[in-house]
Amino acid sequence: MQFKNITANKTKAIALVAHDNMKKNLIKWSQQYQDKLAAHKLFATGTTGTLLSKETGLKINSLISGPLGGDQQIGALITEQKIDMLIFFWDPLEAQPHDPDVKALLRLAAVWNIPVACNQASADFLINSTLFDNAYQKSVPDYDQYIADRT
Ligand code: PGA
Repeated sequence: MQFKNITANKTKAIALVAHDNMKKNLIKWSQQYQDKLAAHKLFATGTTGTLLSKETGLKINSLISGPLGGDQQIGALITEQKIDMLIFFWDPLEAQPHDPDVKALLRLAAVWNIPVACNQASADFLINSTLFDNAYQKSVPDYDQYIADRT
């Protein structure tokens, strides 16, 4: 696979997702960092997004609810390079009906070199990084080269 460098803008597109048992944690975390988050473009799965906008007043682009396809929507946005960061408080202690979708989302985040926080501590580290509010150069698969090599 060939890679190329792209720039993630200073203003980032951030996807926020929490499984049901983790939603309170994500709401609390988002309230704590409300001012920082407000400077970015926020996306979320349906229930997470509705709760977050109600509890924080943040402007959220809510997609479909996770079990109904929202995780897949975020994955699709990642492949289109429309998401720069994923904050995903997934539940390590309860099986999810949409586990294949969760796995697919995490896989696409790895493919497209997206920073992912899976819990409060990793989200704290990401949001407090000096890179969070700055433009960032990163390597992603070079799709044009990928097709050229295969045809
Ligand atoms: P939800 O989806 O925000 O609609 O609950 C999250 C998920 O379970 O992936």
